[in-house]
Amino acid sequence: VTLSNDPGHIVEADRAHIWHHMTQHKPYDSGVDPRIIVEGKGMKVWDIKGKEHLDAVSGGVWTVNVGYGRERIGKAIADQVTKMCFFGGTAGTIPGAHFAEMLIDKMPGLDRVYYANSGSEANEKAFKMVRQISHKHYGGKKSKILYRERDYHGTTIACLSAGGQEERNAQYGPFTPDFIAVPHCLEYRSQDGTSGEAYAAASIKAIEDVILREGADTIGSICLEPITAGGGIIVPPVGYWDGVQELCSKYNILLHIDEVVCGVGRTGTWFGYQQFGVKPDIVTMAKGVASGYAAISCCVTTNAVFDQFKDDTDKLSMFRDISTFGGCTGGPAAAIENMLIIEEEDLRGNSVRTGEHLENNLNALMEKHKWIGDVRGMGLFAGAELVADRGSKEPVDEKLVAAIVADCMNQGVIIGATNKSLPGFNNTLMFAPALIATPDDIDHVTDAVDQAITRVL
Ligand code: PLP
Repeated sequence: VTLSNDPGHIVEADRAHIWHHMTQHKPYDSGVDPRIIVEGKGMKVWDIKGKEHLDAVSGGVWTVNVGYGRERIGKAIADQVTKMCFFGGTAGTIPGAHFAEMLIDKMPGLDRVYYANSGSEANEKAFKMVRQISHKHYGGKKSKILYRERDYHGTTIACLSAGGQEERNAQYGPFTPDFIAVPHCLEYRSQDGTSGEAYAAASIKAIEDVILREGADTIGSICLEPITAGGGIIVPPVGYWDGVQELCSKYNILLHIDEVVCGVGRTGTWFGYQQFGVKPDIVTMAKGVASGYAAISCCVTTNAVFDQFKDDTDKLSMFRDISTFGGCTGGPAAAIENMLIIEEEDLRGNSVRTGEHLENNLNALMEKHKWIGDVRGMGLFAGAELVADRGSKEPVDEKLVAAIVADCMNQGVIIGATNKSLPGFNNTLMFAPALIATPDDIDHVTDAVDQAITRVL
């Protein structure tokens, strides 16, 4: 085997041997080359053909919060793994302890960090905690988990069971029972015509109806994204989160918030839930925790949750879970530097300021193009929903959305689009640039979108 760096060689090796995520490979059989990214600096990446791209989705999947090419993170990882690369998670490590201290300092009311490797895995941990609490303290009766339509929590079978995007789930059932859906909260597509606080109240009533139908004593937790990400950048209406918190208290249901996308500065606060003043029992996070420089995720809980696993008479009552690589050791080393960078460079402040610029630009595009039906988001996290007709809100054809994304790519700008799943639901262009984005970067992105919409629609 010759590990040649010749671009043609790499492309052919990739074509012959790589099975890409979420990719239909058929076009690669007939001349289309797989895309290979070779370098990144700041907001930009370069592909193997030398083309420069401005990345408006932080590594394609809203991850690289501090931007590319941060030497200090690379150095921290190298120093740590040279000194101590790995030891199983029954023991602690220095970066593991330090990062947990930093994290808990940013999350008043939460106490314990359980390390894992990916968002899916962190969510699995949370689901297992809820089930184990049910077995230990409620005779196995309080094991149901509520999830919301349009939310996504990961790729494993349990996470898909809790997944509210049908297209992602369609061919992977049967799913784990006891994951129960509640309705989405996209006000733009309110079913009963209500808006604002009335819509929030109706959404909360819909959740309560599900709780009463299933029986509150059978429900262990509700798992929600603070702002639905891949399901269409859905910011819940004012009052929604207060209502969720009240339902959780009233019916003794644990509140599990999935911060895999919104976490670590994306919306301007450290975590998305902090925008809404709620107090979760369990918070899961991944992606931006180390901005993609290392694989790390966390399932963070209160001591009230943690203490339910303490027992000196029953050995089986410990959390019987393990993750070989969870928390060892490059992950927390990277996460520490990542968090320091966000603090030192005030990237949360930048998310708010430059996020406003993004919102203004998208609103201006909405005035110009009748195809944009709704603009929503928070901080450097925004969506523009495309409709064929503003009156009927009929979504723009999915192929045209893909063509807009491809047109931007041709212009050297990477944007995202939601996974259209429910028939007739939403087709939304998505923006989640690194938190270092400047107003000029944003202008560059929205100019590309403007041109793409003009050309395609
Ligand atoms: N939760 C949310 C909200 C996500 O968007 C994702 C991935 O996109 C996940 C969980 C799963 O994370 P991972 O792909 O790291 O398993």
